[in-house]
Amino acid sequence: QFPFGRRLPCDIYWHGVSFHDNNIFSGQVNKFPGMMETVRKITLSRAMRTMQDLFPLEYNFYPRSWILPEELPLFVAEVRMMKDRNPSWKPTFIVKPDGGCQGDGIYLIKDPSDIRLTGSIQSRPAVVQEYICKPLLVDKLKFDIRLYVLLKSLEPLEIYIAKDGLSRFCTEPYQEPTLKNLHQVFMHLTNYSLNIHSGNFIHSASVNTGSKRTFSSILCRLSSRGADVKKLWSDIISLVIKTIIALTPELKVYYQSDIPAGKPGPTCFQILGFDILLMKNLKPILLEVNANPSMRIEHEQELSPGVFENVPSPVDEEVKVAVIRDTLRLVDPQKKKRKDAQCLLYPGVADGKLQLKPVKIQVKYGMKDKQHKHHSLKLSLKLKFYLKLGSCQSLEQAPESSEELPEAALPSLCLKQVFPKYAKQFSYLRLVDRVAALFIRFLGVKGTTKLGPTGFRTFIRNCKLSNSNFSMAAVDILYIDITRRWNSMGIDHKESGMCLQAFVEAFFCLAQKKYKSLPLHDQVASLIELCECRLAALRGKRLVWGCG
Ligand code: ADP
Repeated sequence: QFPFGRRLPCDIYWHGVSFHDNNIFSGQVNKFPGMMETVRKITLSRAMRTMQDLFPLEYNFYPRSWILPEELPLFVAEVRMMKDRNPSWKPTFIVKPDGGCQGDGIYLIKDPSDIRLTGSIQSRPAVVQEYICKPLLVDKLKFDIRLYVLLKSLEPLEIYIAKDGLSRFCTEPYQEPTLKNLHQVFMHLTNYSLNIHSGNFIHSASVNTGSKRTFSSILCRLSSRGADVKKLWSDIISLVIKTIIALTPELKVYYQSDIPAGKPGPTCFQILGFDILLMKNLKPILLEVNANPSMRIEHEQELSPGVFENVPSPVDEEVKVAVIRDTLRLVDPQKKKRKDAQCLLYPGVADGKLQLKPVKIQVKYGMKDKQHKHHSLKLSLKLKFYLKLGSCQSLEQAPESSEELPEAALPSLCLKQVFPKYAKQFSYLRLVDRVAALFIRFLGVKGTTKLGPTGFRTFIRNCKLSNSNFSMAAVDILYIDITRRWNSMGIDHKESGMCLQAFVEAFFCLAQKKYKSLPLHDQVASLIELCECRLAALRGKRLVWGCG
């Protein structure tokens, strides 16, 4: 830690909340620029909707969602239509304020007319979502899963999933929603921060009982009941990869803006918290993605009224310490050097003991309150400890020279690589990524995230998309119409111009116009290929002219 400023560059920068330091020119930062914005409820819902439009079957793990207030009329109309079609359909919806967390401001409704649109919390933009009425229950209780995912790199895409996670339980037996029980948060919401206040919350010293358990303990139970746990894991892996594929286009736009290609800058990695609900039939449903999942390994215990003490939480410790330890092992800058050295200097080295250079880590806590600061400090001390020892040995057992790391004694990695390992299966889904690459190419001035009218015209001209049926005047109208609508939704007023989602909408429009009879994903894929081909030809021509 560098409380009075940092003079030397670090290998790893561990920031508390978000990527915020533009004075880092090398090393690795544990946050991606724009991740917080990208996983907010509304932005995530939009990204998932785009993917659902392209690949409805592949993205059916995300509940149908509408954005409020702008899509309220659409929500009302769609629900009415579905009810007309199927009068026995008695849905429930969950309303979640954008930017909220820990269950804050969430409520359930049976009918669109129950949406609360007045009052300060209620008038916040929100997502309204189909409520999953038939979750899998354990001990008659609803629970969700928190899984930790390491996005190790954006380009090339590298994703790891922690083999174990947390299961967070409700504290009232579950009943399907009725008008009478809709408001019972301890029955319907699995948030730890809410249920901790229920008299029924059980802190357990064991990882397979109580109100917070390891996910592996649930899997054991399911497996003993004959459930196909292998299939469940494979569905979860697929959900995680598809979700990250939906997020990467936006992340790439932020990345090039904060860390322009060709200039010195750090690389990034990030631990994400995926919240997943299992349906009765074991289908995993994505609830949300957390950019800044809690890494607390203690919980508060009330010793006497009003007097609290932090006590270790074995279940949190078991899952979270492994995630941080192995994230550091994976991003360890000395790892590659060590591997090279092993090959060059010690061919056939067998005892697994290698010389290590200490890794410099800066832990920065942009936290809001003293309590967080305190935890962050403790975490940083733990980090140092694990890095030095590289294992779960106690301090007393530490070797005299902490420079020697018994690599072979480390527990096996808890993080499993899933991408690029399964890249082949999922690469056809990465269409919006390619649209984002076109968008970034025409952004022009580095450091921006929005495309100006000239950039959009250049894109159309270079890809030769205008013709007698689609004049440049029509191009300008398309740009103005879509940009104005997206900007009126009031997400980001800092810059003017066309944001990525608006460009994606315009691109889909152009694709539908050009390839009328194909399904949307084929229309978009065809237009991408055409654009990429024309741009490659243009580059070829320019090279020839350059040589001439
Ligand atoms: P927050 O960020 O405030 O925790 P979440 O989206 O995670 O918001 O929702 C809070 C809780 O509400 C979840 O942990 C889950 O128990 C419940 N929940 C959220 N969305 C749904 C849904 N679509 N169906 C059923 N339960 C849901």
